[in-house]
Amino acid sequence: MQNSFQNAMSQLNKVAKIKNFNNEFIARLRQPDRDIRISIPVKMDDGSLKIFEGYRIEYNNALGPYKGGIRYHQDMEINEVKALAFWMVLKCAVAGIPMGGGKGGITVNPKELSKGELERLSRAWVQKLSDILGPKKDVPAPDVNTTSEIIAWMNDEYQKITGDKTGAMITGKPLQEGGSEGRDTATAQGGFFVFETLKKELKLPEKCKVVIQGFGNVGSYAALIWNKAGHDIVGLSDSKNGIYNEKGFDIEKLMKYKKDTGSLSGFSNAKEITNKELLETECDLLIPAAFENQITGTNAEKIKAKAILELANGPIAPEADEILFKKGIPVVPDILANSGGVIVSYFEWVQNLKGEHWSEKEVFDKLQPMLEDSAKKIVEKAKESNTDLRRGAFILALERIEAKTQ
Ligand code: GLU
Repeated sequence: MQNSFQNAMSQLNKVAKIKNFNNEFIARLRQPDRDIRISIPVKMDDGSLKIFEGYRIEYNNALGPYKGGIRYHQDMEINEVKALAFWMVLKCAVAGIPMGGGKGGITVNPKELSKGELERLSRAWVQKLSDILGPKKDVPAPDVNTTSEIIAWMNDEYQKITGDKTGAMITGKPLQEGGSEGRDTATAQGGFFVFETLKKELKLPEKCKVVIQGFGNVGSYAALIWNKAGHDIVGLSDSKNGIYNEKGFDIEKLMKYKKDTGSLSGFSNAKEITNKELLETECDLLIPAAFENQITGTNAEKIKAKAILELANGPIAPEADEILFKKGIPVVPDILANSGGVIVSYFEWVQNLKGEHWSEKEVFDKLQPMLEDSAKKIVEKAKESNTDLRRGAFILALERIEAKTQ
């Protein structure tokens, strides 16, 4: 597995080479402000004690409180959290919201825990970190495997410890606990707004053949949203199986099928394919919506999509970026494409602090123009420097952060 943090730093170096940023400013961005590792002892249901490893990286707060999700995954390690936290810094800057960047996590496969164990683990993460968290300090959110139920436990634990009743310490809460309308579909919906804005620029047809890697919160909603807008979702995968049908799938039926059977495999008229084949499928738009480092120097040459939109964080390694750029395959970078999630998180934080509740329409009516504006600015930045959209997005973000860095 490639080291995601090295990849993130190599992306930063590439931008520093083409644009004259202050060296000291770039040097500061090579390390997080704080790198916190905790051990979390949890009483298991069988009476034994298990120690889990947890993290919170507070990367940079030049623009506002640290902001970013909490990931639960068995392969989670510190370099991955650092990379994800760094990308959050840039993502919030690109979005134009007054938030810095952070990320957290626990090395755990949540599917192996009972509900009670998961709750104790999640509450304990907050107990260990309650001093550094807070509405004006560090505001976590969901990421891979952290559901709104987990977020609700964390919110409750924080309120018990601190007495803070705003709910603004964490976003992604259930609606009845101060969550925002639209937060669960925001990442996918935001990606769709970006796609609509850039469709012409990317030279994509009106009706696209779309391949989506990942069928979690982001991937499944993306499939639904693109499908409802008239596009054919010809290839899909979850962590176990890949499926293909050149005519496209009925996504509502597929979501129900996956809910009932726990798998994509065996769905009607689906040809089973591997993850490798899925990424190399001929299509108009490829949407990686799973994990980092899926397109690397090994398979970039074989990608046949006309354009790629990154709904996952860091799915394309730097050497693959170069290959795709040479092949003329444009990549809409993660820090723009998936920023709908954190923007609606920011809306949730604002609603909590003001004691308001906005309708879903209000949320998306505010989200859409923000994403359109960022997307257009990034295209301009990329054109000015004759470079790709990722570097365009980095330039936009770094200029904004530098302006607020003393
Ligand atoms: N985990 C999401 C991301 O990577 C959302 C973060 C947030 O809402 O703060 O962008």
